Formats: sequence, structure tokens, C-alpha cells
Amino acid sequence: KGERLRLPPWLKTEIPIGKNYNKLKNTLRELNLNTVCEEARCPNIGECWGGGEYATATATIMLMGDTCTRGCRFCSVKTARRPPPLDPEEPYNTAKAIAAWGLDYVVLTSVDRDDIPDGGAEHFAKTVSNLKGRNPEILVECLTPDFRGDLSAVEKIALSGLDVYAHNVETVRDLQRHVRDPRANFDQSLSVLRHAKKVKPCVLTKTSIMLGLGETDVQIRAALKELRDSGVDCLTLGQYMQPTKRHLKVEEYVTPEKFTYWEKVGQEMGFVYTASGPLVRSSYKAVAWLVQDAPK
Ligand code: SF4
Ligand code: SF4
Repeated sequence: KGERLRLPPWLKTEIPIGKNYNKLKNTLRELNLNTVCEEARCPNIGECWGGGEYATATATIMLMGDTCTRGCRFCSVKTARRPPPLDPEEPYNTAKAIAAWGLDYVVLTSVDRDDIPDGGAEHFAKTVSNLKGRNPEILVECLTPDFRGDLSAVEKIALSGLDVYAHNVETVRDLQRHVRDPRANFDQSLSVLRHAKKVKPCVLTKTSIMLGLGETDVQIRAALKELRDSGVDCLTLGQYMQPTKRHLKVEEYVTPEKFTYWEKVGQEMGFVYTASGPLVRSSYKAVAWLVQDAPK
């Protein structure tokens, strides 16, 4: 007890860098965008930016600044009660920059802004509509906060023209209080996902669960079932990694075989798409090919 677990070999492998990676990296320098890919030092960056197997370049852009009003125990983003105000030009500048960047698929995400009345929903929606206006071909996923259960905020984003509505439940029901900020909870997150699907049924809904925080198989299965019953289409499961010593410890390094097992369970339960593996991240581009063929 108290000892940190050793990193297993399957987490030490390098992911190959795709051919577009350098081009995107160079362009990014000039655009002044914050990407989660770089800030979180995501191990998939070479593959996502490079295009990899599906020749689809993806990146995750963070809106509304780098400071969150919440403090989840797994997350290394800075926290403050009153972060700086939103930049009203951000939706236009970001849309312009992304459209010029040559991505096929973009994930727009944000910190939680409980200090703003609509949580920043309008800001999100404006960014999407501007981006789609400039580049109708680009596929857009929004990975949103829970807006404290404010469904009108969810609706604004669901109707903004996006292709995928993502919101992460992060962990199983019984570990919510231990892992997430106390303002978040499983039912509130389910209601966000259900509402997005309800107001725009052709939008794919998506969520993500981190494994290795001490959850049991029974709890995982129950979470998957509740998600499916709420109409969630896509599911990603990845290994939790402790960002610093002050964050929650990794309780278990789940084996690749076990991740494969959960992928099968997800498929059997009827998720349209399940991505499950030690290095799968919530924004992992695997869903891109699916959206291209989705009914509009
Ligand atoms: Fe960026 Fe997400 Fe890909 Fe990581 S998995 S490189 S954060 S798009
Ligand atoms: Fe991190 Fe999101 Fe939690 Fe904020 S709400 S601390 S950005 S996980």
C-alpha cells in the first residue's frame, strides 16, 4: 500500500508518427491555438495529427482559456474560482485558424466555466457554426462540460451543426465522488447525453471512461448498460494515467487483453462504436471514419 505501480511494458511503446504530423505542427505555431494534444503530451499525437491508418488528421482544441472552475482529482488543468473572462473573438479566430489548418476532424473541448451563466454554451456553438460556415467538410466533435445539468445549454450546442456530441462520465457510478469534482455526477452526465440525442437524433453521442481507478468489472458493466440505455452511440475506454504526484494514484494497469474484452462487451451491448485500449483517449480519432458514413 502507498507504493506506486510500475509502468507495464505495453505503455512504453512509441506510436508511429504519420506523414502529416510535421506539417500540422509547423502550421500550429503560427495559429496560436491551444491543443490538448500537446498540453497533455498525449501519446497518440503522432498518429492523430499524422493521419495514421485512416489518413484522417485530428486534433483537440481547447476553448475558453486554460483555467477551470472545477478541480477533478485526475485532471492537471489549472483551477480558479473566477478565471479570466472569455475572449469574444475566440469563436471567429479559432474557426478561421482551424479551417486553415487542414484538419479532417476536430474535437473542440473546454474547461468548465461555472462562473458564466450559460457555462460558455453560446461560445461553443458560435465556434462550431463559424467553422462549419468556412469549411462544411470538416467533421466536428464537441466534448462539453455538464453545464450543471442545464439542458438549454446542451441544446444550444447539439443544434450548432456539430457531428458528434461528447461528454465524459469519466468513471463508474460508485467512484464519481472520489474521482470528479463534487459538482459532477453520473446522473447529470447521463441527462446531458440523453438530451443531446433527443434534440438532434442524427448527432452521434459519445462518452469515455478511464480504467485503473479501482473500479470493479461489475461496476463497469453496469455503467456501460446505463450508457447504452441512455442512447449513447460511441464509447471509449482507456487507461487512467496519474498526471502528477498530487493526483489520484493508478490502482491498476489494465492489460491490453482486458481492454479487448471490454471492446467486445461494448459491441455486444450495441454501441455503434467502441474503442478500448490502454492508450485510447476520449478524443481519439477512431470515431472519424464512422461519422463520414453516418446519416445526415
Ligand atoms: Fe489529441 Fe486526442 Fe489524439 Fe491525443 S487522442 S493526440 S488529445 S486528438
Ligand atoms: Fe479537468 Fe474538466 Fe474536471 Fe475541469 S471539469 S478539472 S478541465 S476534468
